[in-house]
Amino acid sequence: MRIENDIKLGFKDVMIRPKRSTLKSRAAVSLKREFKFMHTGKTWSGIPVIAANMDTVGTFEMAVELSGHQLITAIHKHYTPEQWQVFMENSSTNITDYIAISTGTGKKDAEKLNLLLRQFPRILFICIDVANGYSEHFVEFVKETRQQYPDKVIIAGNVVTGEMVEELLLAGADIIKVGIGPGSVCTTRIKTGVGYPQLSAIIECADAAHGLGGQIISDGGCKIPGDIAKAFGGGADFVMLGGMLAGHSESGGETIEKDGKKYKQFYGMSSETAMEKHTGGMAAYRASEGKTVEIPYKGKVGTTVKDILGSLRSTCTYVGAQRLKELTKRTTFIRVMEQHNEIFE
Ligand code: 5GP
Repeated sequence: MRIENDIKLGFKDVMIRPKRSTLKSRAAVSLKREFKFMHTGKTWSGIPVIAANMDTVGTFEMAVELSGHQLITAIHKHYTPEQWQVFMENSSTNITDYIAISTGTGKKDAEKLNLLLRQFPRILFICIDVANGYSEHFVEFVKETRQQYPDKVIIAGNVVTGEMVEELLLAGADIIKVGIGPGSVCTTRIKTGVGYPQLSAIIECADAAHGLGGQIISDGGCKIPGDIAKAFGGGADFVMLGGMLAGHSESGGETIEKDGKKYKQFYGMSSETAMEKHTGGMAAYRASEGKTVEIPYKGKVGTTVKDILGSLRSTCTYVGAQRLKELTKRTTFIRVMEQHNEIFE
């Protein structure tokens, strides 16, 4: 047993210090980024916010709306090839740059990925997603996928430490998804005791990835727009959102009415609800590492997206970053013992 004594930080432990700025208005801020990916050499431009590959977030309807704002949707892996066919036939051609096909690492997952990419060869992103990105089998799967698809941008995760970021980038991933345990419907930390405070994970993993020419996605733990700003400030190239994009018309999942009020169901992808829906129940050797909640219906996601992007532009003006790209360089975090005033909540 060993103990690491360095303090590791979450979003709640810091605020961003304001800085003198020459920016006159939020309208002067550009949130668009352009990335060149380490293995494919391809470039992508857009706003680097991604809807999570959960079936109550990363839906086709979400992709239609978000691609209009140049945001990415990681489409959840439970659509059938027939459903994909209908969606792609009815989508504009630039959607292929703003969606990722999600896959696990099983044989069936690989077969489905191959089938979808044969059918829709223009889709740019593959998201190889497992709860625990530390297994050798996962690294092998990333290697094989890279060999098979030299021109696709491969996202792989989740991990939280620099050495594993490096290993996955060297195995063929372009972008590493970072986050174990911070998610809004995740119970991994409760069930297993395993995790890493998200802001420190971002800072350490971004450093490792950027050293090799790769990128990272901060995945999970953003509760309010300010957390997204902190994730970018800490060095995240992309930020993935589950809970903040759940509960909308486009989010999928059941709508429930109680006492005249509308709610939408939202659940973790390894919750009992998800297991029952997609695999016919929880295997006896497993415990659920996700929960199921009902959240008040939030309306159209476009309104939330505008709020998120407007807030991010405001962060940039507070620190004098004309472009989102400059935000990390202009961020000084101060450690704090308080956050916002909750008196009227
Ligand atoms: P949020 O933005 O809601 O805080 O976090 C979203 C992220 O939570 C997802 O992108 C995914 O990485 C993670 N997640 C989704 N479902 C589960 C689950 O059932 N268990 C765990 N441990 N994490 C989950």
